[in-house]
Formats: sequence, structure tokens, C-alpha cells
Amino acid sequence: MRKSNVRNRKFQKKPLYRKVNTLARGVHHRGGKEYKTTRHSRNARHNQTSLGPMHNKHRNGLDYTPLFMFLLSRVGEDWTETYREAAARLDRLDPIFWLVAHNEEEKQSLVGMGESSYYSGLYVDENNRLAIVDPTIRLEDLHPWCSCCTHTFNGRRFVNKYSWERHLEQNRRDEQDRLE
Ligand SMILES: [Zn+2]
Repeated sequence: MRKSNVRNRKFQKKPLYRKVNTLARGVHHRGGKEYKTTRHSRNARHNQTSLGPMHNKHRNGLDYTPLFMFLLSRVGEDWTETYREAAARLDRLDPIFWLVAHNEEEKQSLVGMGESSYYSGLYVDENNRLAIVDPTIRLEDLHPWCSCCTHTFNGRRFVNKYSWERHLEQNRRDEQDRLE
């Protein structure tokens, strides 16, 4: 009885990825007057190394946002069970480990997907439970680095607005770090 329930539930569950229209993606950053004058800073912002490596969230025309939201919803739950369910609902396994660190070295507090989507980095704790690397990061602490993209953290829009002054200040600090 219990077994068939589990199987039925699994059958009803949707895949943890979806097809996207990739035409025109990324194009919006190549035009415009503002772009010419801020080319370097813009590119730097969109490849923010300080926030960890960016993954292309739309690979092969597939968007794994549902997977990331699923993993976040399972924080605190048993990893073996969570992994099994995720694997059964995916076309490939590696997107799981874009968010979940394999080991201590891979742990990241923030993981960037595409240009402007950020997620809490995850890991499996000593009790085999899915955990957040840095649970102290709040939505209010994050600032967008361009005005053209909608930035999100764990699927929620940033509350801070883009600030040109802040952008310049950040660039100045980045430049300083680079020279040091
Ligand atoms: Zn942008």
C-alpha cells in the first residue's frame, strides 16, 4: 500500500527543468549608448568572480530553475532521499552539483546562474542533511550591478535598486584589489 503510494506520487511529479526560448538571450547587453562607455565594468559585473563562477542556467535550451527551487525547499531534509527524487526528475545529474558542493573546497555562499540569478550555495552536512553554506545572507544585503537585468536571489527579486554611484565605487574597489 505504502509502496504504490510512493510510486503514484512519483508519476505525478513534473521534471525539474523546462524548455526555454534561448533566442535573443544575452543580446540586450550588446546594444545601446550606455554600453559603449561602460563596456568593461559591465562585463566585469556580469562575470562577478567574487560571487563565484557563473553557470549558464540555460544549457541546451533547458532551464533548471525548478531544480534549484526544489533543492532549496529540501534544506534540512535527508540528502539520500532528496538526491534520489531529484535524479528521477532530471535529464542529467550535474545541475544538482552546480548548487550542492561535492566537498569542502567547492562550498560557495552564493552561486550565480546566468547573468542575474543567484542562489544560496548548498552542501551536505555531517548528518547527511542538505544545508545552506552561508545562512546569514539576506536578500536586503544584495545589490544589482546593472540596471537592465532583473536580479534574483533564491527566486526572489532583489529589493535594492541599481545605483550608479555604488557601481562606480565597486569598480574603484575592484581596480584597487587588482592592483594590490
Ligand atoms: Zn543587465
